[in-house]
Order: sequence, then C-alpha cells, then structure tokens
Amino acid sequence: MSQFASVARVPGDPILSLMEAYRQDRNAAKLDLGVGVYKDAQGLTPIPRAVKLAEQRLIDSETTKTYVGGHGDAAFAERLSQLVLGADSPLLAGQRAAATQTPGGTGALRLAGDFIRHCLPGRGIWLSDPTWPIHETLFAEAGLKVGHYPYVGADNRLDVEAMIAALAHLPKGDVVLLHACCHNPTGFDLGPRDFKRVLEVIKARELLPLIDFAYQGFGDGLEQDAWAVRLFAAELPELLITSSCSKNFGLYRERTGALIVCAGDADKLVDIRSQLAYLARNLWSTPPAHGAAVVAEILGDAELRKLWQDELESMRLRVASLRRGLVEALAPHGLSERFAHIAEQRGMFSYTGLTPIQVQRLREDFSVYMVGSGRANVAGLDATRLEQLAAAIARVCG
Ligand code: PLP
Repeated sequence: MSQFASVARVPGDPILSLMEAYRQDRNAAKLDLGVGVYKDAQGLTPIPRAVKLAEQRLIDSETTKTYVGGHGDAAFAERLSQLVLGADSPLLAGQRAAATQTPGGTGALRLAGDFIRHCLPGRGIWLSDPTWPIHETLFAEAGLKVGHYPYVGADNRLDVEAMIAALAHLPKGDVVLLHACCHNPTGFDLGPRDFKRVLEVIKARELLPLIDFAYQGFGDGLEQDAWAVRLFAAELPELLITSSCSKNFGLYRERTGALIVCAGDADKLVDIRSQLAYLARNLWSTPPAHGAAVVAEILGDAELRKLWQDELESMRLRVASLRRGLVEALAPHGLSERFAHIAEQRGMFSYTGLTPIQVQRLREDFSVYMVGSGRANVAGLDATRLEQLAAAIARVCG
C-alpha cells in the first residue's frame, strides 16, 4: 500500500489558475487584472532603481553569508519600525516596541498566529468579510478559531455601522485583524473617523488589534497611510503590526517583512520577543537576509531613500490616476455613477461590484481577466486601455 494513499489533491490557488488561463489566451488585446502585483505602463513589475542601486552596494560590501539572528537584521528592524511607527515614536524611544524580521508579510502573519495560539491560548481571531483569502487559511492552519465581522454591505459599499456593531459583541480579549490601508480585496478603507470609532470599541471590549500593513505608501502616501497604526499605537497599551516590503519596495520574491510588537512596558517586550524568537526558530529558523539588507540600505541612506520615496509615489499616483481614468471612460456609457466608488477606493485593488457571471463574460468575450468576486487589480491597467475596458464592462452590464 502507498504511504501516501490518503493524500487528496486540493484545488490550486484560483488566482494562479487565472494567470495560467491569461498566459494561454491568444487575444493580443487581453488584459490581466488578476494577480496582486504592481505593474507599470508596459505591464512589467519593475525593480525600483533604489533597490538596484542598494543591491549593487551590497554585493560590493557583503563579507559573510553566516546566519542573521532570530529577530533578523537589526538595522532593518530599527529602520522599518521607524517607517511604520514614526521616526519620533515614543514607543520606540521607550523600548516598548520592536520588529522581528520575517519572510514577507505572510511570515509575519504566521508568526503572529503562532504567538497568539502559543502565548494567548483560547483567543479567537476576527477577520473582515471579505478579506485576503490567505488570512482565512493561514490563521486556521496556525490553530486559531477564525470568525468574521461584516465589512461590505449588500450594496457593495463599506458598511462601518455593521462592522462596529459586530465588534461590540466580540468576546473580550479576542484578536481583531484590521487592514491599515488599501484593503485587500475591496479597496474600501476606513476613514479617520471610522478608525477612531473602531478604536473605542476595541478599548471597550479589551480586544487586541492585529494590523496588517501590506501596502504602506500605496494609499494616500507613506506617512498618511501609517496614521491609523500610529493612532492605535498611541492609544492602546498593546498592539501587533505586520509589515510587508513586497509591494512598496518591489521586493516580492525576496520575502521581506516584519512583525512589530508594541507592549505595555520594556520588560514585557523582552518576554514577548523571547517567545517570538523561539516560535520563529521552529518555523524558519532565521529569516532570509537579502531583501532586509536592501531595505536597511535604502532607509539608512538619504539619497537612496529619496529616490525610493519618489518611485513609490509615482506608483501610487499611477494607480490613482487609472482609477479616475476608468470612471471617466465609463461616463460615455452612462456608468460613471454606478462605478464612482472605483475612484474613491485606495490601493491596487477594486471591488468593482461586477457579478461572477459578468466577470466570466468579461473573460470569455473580451479577454479581461479578474477574480470571480469582481476584484480587479487596477495596477494591471494602462491609460491606453481604459476605453477598451470601459466598453467591455458596458457590454457585460447592458
Ligand atoms: N497582507 C495582505 C492584505 C496582502 O495582500 C499581502 C500580499 O498580497 C500580504 C499580507 C503579504 O504579502 P507578502 O507575504 O508577499 O509580503
């Protein structure tokens, strides 16, 4: 008998199958709005110039490939914490917050999941409905009880009232996952007033927020996107933040991210970090060095940092202008009001409100590829294709 007889096949990631279908499509006018990576006007996911320059410097100056420590590259951890919490953060000055380097934002989320299961037993985690699909499986695989709070209403718009009402009934001490900005998959972000209301409920119910910060710089700007994270860090004694350098540094495959923990006092932070080092040791031993060294180099050098910030800002502005451009292109079809939310959303993703059947027709009849839920990666567009897409949407909505 085969030892593996009981191993069943699981379906592949639907976004990867979508990519495959796109690759095989022979229509020259095909459009890929599926996979969640930034693309430039040529349809490429570029390596920022600042990253290339930092890599060159590192090749020349690197002297060893020995392991980095359990918490990763110390310069990376310090500089990324400042990027997230602010250069003048009192938490950092008081040694009440610190970062553990992880393989990407996904690694940070998994480490957070293991930390909750191991050190805060019995706590459930609550996710927005909908959320990034990996949140669902990752926390379940980490052994946590996963629940949901409403986020988008039947009208396909952000429903803050329903969200707050649900949070107000969560079990005390449970963990609430929030997206700092550029909510994936919807593109609907909480505004400052909404975040303040969520914060009040979190305080009242003594909930522990876990803020997923995967798109810093893609929403309203590097500092602006960190506003809610810094508000929560200032107002709450304890907080978990997962940060990803995949999108804003274009370092996707270098697996660069961090789990930042804010604790009540410096001594407790040391306890928590001893646990994180233990848990990380059993997950991946020590994190990969290259991406973190690149980020540390960029953030630690005024010239590279300025170049990177300018490049990030141009990516952000490109996506924002594509959003507005699409709504304008829909106007001649009488659809600009119906899709006005696309210009209001933030980040790369947009819940368009198109139904699964309309999404299927877009793919079959017009070679436009997006996720079945109607999520489109706006960064997959380019300005010369807006009218083509608007016409295709008008046809499937007609
Ligand atoms: N969180 C969200 C909401 C994401 O969309 C992503 C990536 O798509 C991540 C976390 C993790 O990104 P990575 O592990 O590539 O850094």
